[in-house]
Amino acid sequence: MLEVESYRQLANRLVGATITKGWSDAYAAKKLLSSAQWARTVRGLTITGTDRRGKLMLIETNGVRLGMRFGMTGVLLIDSEVGIDGLFYGPHSFRADWIRAGLELGDGRRLLLHDPRRLARVEIDPNLSELGPDALSLTREEFLRVVTISRGEGPAIKARLLDQSAVAGVGNLLGDEILFRAGIDPRTPTGRLSADQRAALFASFTQTMRTLKRRGGSHLGDHMAGRFPGGLCPRDAAPMRVNIIGGRTTYWCSLHQK
Ligand SMILES: [Zn+2]
Repeated sequence: MLEVESYRQLANRLVGATITKGWSDAYAAKKLLSSAQWARTVRGLTITGTDRRGKLMLIETNGVRLGMRFGMTGVLLIDSEVGIDGLFYGPHSFRADWIRAGLELGDGRRLLLHDPRRLARVEIDPNLSELGPDALSLTREEFLRVVTISRGEGPAIKARLLDQSAVAGVGNLLGDEILFRAGIDPRTPTGRLSADQRAALFASFTQTMRTLKRRGGSHLGDHMAGRFPGGLCPRDAAPMRVNIIGGRTTYWCSLHQK
């Protein structure tokens, strides 16, 4: 999600430009009727702004709203006459045949969706009602609503943080880093968190967002040093545990996360 915010800032350079052509392969168009629908819909639109909800980047136009999702390995690039001008995070390499979709602008620039693993998607008028408030601008009140369950125990806190309808933008690595910093076991039922734990979680949440945004991506958290089978906690050298929680591979410290 932090990466997506960088892509949004990059895409924002295109505000005012008119789309003369759009294309997509069948993978990127999977949420649409066809690749042709993307090409037909975007042609002639003028870009009026950009926005983001969680991991979904939005391109506002004088017509429909366009959406882009980057999956795990997708990146956004802007190709100008002087060459690729995009941002690459992490150990990415570039290949022309990994470009899944794009927009061509009237001034010659091109916005390109580059994704080796074919998980990136383009969308037309994406349904925003399925998404909770955005993680980067979440207030304390909104956060406390996310981690407070009125009846019963609710889901494990890790699963709750990943629920995009509760809060949009917390991915797997961000979720593990937030819980690592807060010292909370990811299996803890959300409804069993104490008031102190909820407060610690909010502090950790805002600190994690701020720190990893500065470092340049959600893959740059402190817990990553122990995020492999047999890894040790970088804080106290206790063995890290691993299990599937909320459908995702979760790492946590066997000692300081309670
Ligand atoms: Zn530890």
